[in-house]
Amino acid sequence: MAEKDFSLDKYRSKRDFAKTPEPAPAEPLAAEAELRDFVIHRHEARNLHYDLRLEMEGVLKSWAVPKGLSWVPADKHLAVRTEDHPIEYLTFDGVIPKGQYGAGAMTIWDRGTYRVTEGDGLDGLDDGKLEIELRGGRVRGQWHMVRLAKSDKDWLLFKYRDRYAREEGEPVFPLDLSREKPAKIPRSVKTMRPAQTAEPFSDAAWVFELKFAGVRMTAAVDGGGVRFADASGKTAKWKLSELEGDLRRLRAERAVLDGVLVASDEADRPDADLLAQRLAAGDTEELRFYVFDLLHYEDWDLRERPLLQRKSALASVVPKSARVLYVDHVVERGEELADLVARRGLAGVIAKRGDSPYAAGPSDDWKEIRAAESTAPATGSVHDALAKGGSRRPSRVKFSNRNKIYWPVEGITKGQLLDWYDRMADVIVPYLRDRPVHMLRYPDGIEGKSFYHKNVAGRMPDWVKTVVVKEEGGEEVRYVVCNDRDTLLQLVNLGSIDLHPWLSRTDEPEMPDWAIIDLDPSDDDFSKPVRIARTVGKVLHGAGLRPSLKTSGKTGLHIYVPLVRKYSYEQARMFCEVVARMAVVEHKDIATVERTPAKRGSKVYVDYGQNRREQTVVPPYVVRPVPGASVSAPLDWDELSGRVQPADFNLETVPERLERLGDLFRGALTDLQELEPAIEALGNR
Ligand code: MN
Repeated sequence: MAEKDFSLDKYRSKRDFAKTPEPAPAEPLAAEAELRDFVIHRHEARNLHYDLRLEMEGVLKSWAVPKGLSWVPADKHLAVRTEDHPIEYLTFDGVIPKGQYGAGAMTIWDRGTYRVTEGDGLDGLDDGKLEIELRGGRVRGQWHMVRLAKSDKDWLLFKYRDRYAREEGEPVFPLDLSREKPAKIPRSVKTMRPAQTAEPFSDAAWVFELKFAGVRMTAAVDGGGVRFADASGKTAKWKLSELEGDLRRLRAERAVLDGVLVASDEADRPDADLLAQRLAAGDTEELRFYVFDLLHYEDWDLRERPLLQRKSALASVVPKSARVLYVDHVVERGEELADLVARRGLAGVIAKRGDSPYAAGPSDDWKEIRAAESTAPATGSVHDALAKGGSRRPSRVKFSNRNKIYWPVEGITKGQLLDWYDRMADVIVPYLRDRPVHMLRYPDGIEGKSFYHKNVAGRMPDWVKTVVVKEEGGEEVRYVVCNDRDTLLQLVNLGSIDLHPWLSRTDEPEMPDWAIIDLDPSDDDFSKPVRIARTVGKVLHGAGLRPSLKTSGKTGLHIYVPLVRKYSYEQARMFCEVVARMAVVEHKDIATVERTPAKRGSKVYVDYGQNRREQTVVPPYVVRPVPGASVSAPLDWDELSGRVQPADFNLETVPERLERLGDLFRGALTDLQELEPAIEALGNR
């Protein structure tokens, strides 16, 4: 049997370089022992996978890894060897056209340098055993690869148990720094501090941490060495050997942490006098370092990044330790925390702007909050309150990974998303009530993997209402029905960023109470759907209907006609088709009812096909899994102008709008309409 061909010739033979933007191989480079680059591509081909490519002898040895790299040593992930790719692929980032080999988006997920830690790479490749250390902007540390017996292409890839390894469920480093300029670890750091004190306040743009009575201190970890410094950047004179030992186990070789050195009394309260005594006596064994900021990580300065990104990075690098403790925060609810702190007799609260960079010295982005006076008896502990995080009212949901970054560019966390739904539940739930709903789950945020989840049989707590629906194909599916705030939060906690309810309710699943036209653009020119929506609005209003309008939250617009429940899906669909075709006639240049995306060109798809059992459209006020965290926002018909943009509606702007304008979409629930008069009016046009 001929040996399987993994060569660059194979790469060349599979591709037409006149048609794909991928690089054609240049002449091979001379083998250079020192040149060791790697790249990991996120490849959205028919099945999403990650391509690990290691430079060896001037080509990129490549593996397709369906589940990507895991930080958990017990996870053995399949890595399928593919043909060598040319060295130019190190910087390739693009979309391989339909019909070409590997069609789909190929984006650089991480890149950096690597070394073979055991033996020689080429020999290892032949022998089926490779041990590599990756130094990327995301992945860090050693991974081992072993080829399966009896296979020429199937390998197992797994994390070696080093400082970077995580246990199942522990957060992994959340940022992609591969495109950032490297920086030296700073020699001395003057710490950031609040410029002013303030009365307790609540604001969604701010996070609130407990203040600890103790000594402000930074720790710079560099290889095996740890250097402690005071708030002015001067090297501290205390010897803190136990703390040093714990910091050497950090999930980073180089890092600068900011925090407070604390001694706690018998009741576990930080005590500044006790700290002074202990330091004077050299009795440092029980001192703790409460850390709240990460200024430097490996090769990168993080100080320009938003605070919430720095904090989630910090949470992921702090080792399990009784001495080095991560300082958690609550988003928005400063008054509540200040109240709790006053009742517990704690030092106070530090408010910090969630998106602020780290700046030396006094800053308006940090505020010290005086604890509110209160005579109420103590109930619950601060740690409980902090662990609960976002929930303003008690909830049955067991929240997890609140610090996980869901929108990496904006630094928006899962906790902030949960807070959004907590706050908006009363407005959103009526649009979900009694409707089967499915989830599109993004457990690692918008850049991670996503998957549909509709059958929840056996996978929900008892208190979540579910309903069994017989689908058109005959399959029985147990759907969630989201009738209250806790259920909404439960689904969001599972990684749903938005939600997908049916257009009919469980008691009459064949009769929709919404007829919907979805304007789905093929590009991001929002003026096109706006123009078409104006025409659709004119047609519907002209027929005596009172439709509701909202942005989809992505690039399009949704138009709802609320229906008295007496029409079938087919009737609703046929009505919408008539209206859609009338709009297309008026906008032939920019609108189409063509179902095949490739045939739409740059035209807006006027989609009436959503009016179908088991189809779903997101409700108003949900956040969409797109950059900018835009929200599906109700619009007044008069707002349809060239000025309006989907990105205008987001976590920051929608609450104020809702307060000012009320819920512009309420008619979709309350103003149910009949189609017969409208059909007659359209016929008379
Ligand atoms: Mn691939």
